[in-house]
Amino acid sequence: AEQLKKRLFEMHTLAGRFFYEALQEEEGAEARAYLQKRQMDPRMARKFGIGYSPDSYDALFRHLQEKGFKVSEILKTGLVLENKDGKGYHDRFRGRLMFPIFDVQGRVVGFGGRILAKGEPKYLNSPETILFSKSRNLYGLNFAKQTRKRELILVEGYMDMLSIYQAGFHNVVASLGTAFNQEHARTLKRFADDVILLYDSDEAGTNAALRAIPVLVKNGFHVKVTQVPDGKDPDEFIKAKGAAEFSKLLVNAVHYISFEIACIQRKYNLKNPEHRVRFATEAAEILAKLDSEIERNVYLGEVSRVTGVEEEAIRSEIRKLVQKED
Ligand code: ATP
Ligand code: MN
Ligand code: MN
Ligand code: MN
Repeated sequence: AEQLKKRLFEMHTLAGRFFYEALQEEEGAEARAYLQKRQMDPRMARKFGIGYSPDSYDALFRHLQEKGFKVSEILKTGLVLENKDGKGYHDRFRGRLMFPIFDVQGRVVGFGGRILAKGEPKYLNSPETILFSKSRNLYGLNFAKQTRKRELILVEGYMDMLSIYQAGFHNVVASLGTAFNQEHARTLKRFADDVILLYDSDEAGTNAALRAIPVLVKNGFHVKVTQVPDGKDPDEFIKAKGAAEFSKLLVNAVHYISFEIACIQRKYNLKNPEHRVRFATEAAEILAKLDSEIERNVYLGEVSRVTGVEEEAIRSEIRKLVQKED
């Protein structure tokens, strides 16, 4: 098994180099133009090993064969697939901008590939292999850990991670579209205590953030949340507003409780007394989950102010809920 792993690492390294070189060649012109359009610094592209998968049927397959790897080994990378009719093989990634995915030691364990034009799927990722687990790997962690900051910015996408890094904030990792889970948290815990959650501001991103919060909190992270305005994502924000404005977003990150309360508040019309009651009740449920009495009191004041419900009433609601749990 160790021998197989070694072969798989070798093939991934070769594949990374193959894609990287294809990007520099004539066939990579469109992908280079795409990178330029997205304002990626060529030094960044080099550092992160960005490449291009040729728009050919089996270029990588043939390349790996030429390097002496057996078909059975090549298939185990997940980078090459057997044809449906059982005759021959084809590359998984064709005509895509390629992002090598590194493990924490900086070895290539998989790839993400972005389509250059419009089309589906926008991103294609390596399948689970013995080197690569989606639910463990965080994109960029091998670079972010070098900052030795115990505070990391957590984003959704490849380009978000890369843009933030390029803007000079090197303590950033991406969860790559998969739901942030226990195993991600465990990986992250080795390198960080504090997380600034910065998911996309669309509904999907907000919901994903709301689901990531309890996972992070349960694993002992201090969690703050921030979002870019207007339904955009961090990459778009940085391109439009620059690093200084982005820095303000980080400074303005709020305790996750404030974020949760703000999210439920949006569902209610606070001019309506019935809604105010329901909001205060739901907020009490969130506050009841806090262990610290002091923290509870801080946010209690906030909720009381916006709902006009007396603090004492909310406090007694919280007390009921806390007792129920005990
Ligand atoms: P871009 O900026 O390149 O258009 P994005 O990162 O903003 O892409 P989102 O739709 O916000 O794209 O998705 C966030 C992340 O989720 C992506 O970076 C990618 O890792 C993952 N993802 C998105 N679409 C898919 C897909 N169809 N299959 C697998 N993963 C995906
Ligand atoms: Mn999104
Ligand atoms: Mn984006
Ligand atoms: Mn996005």
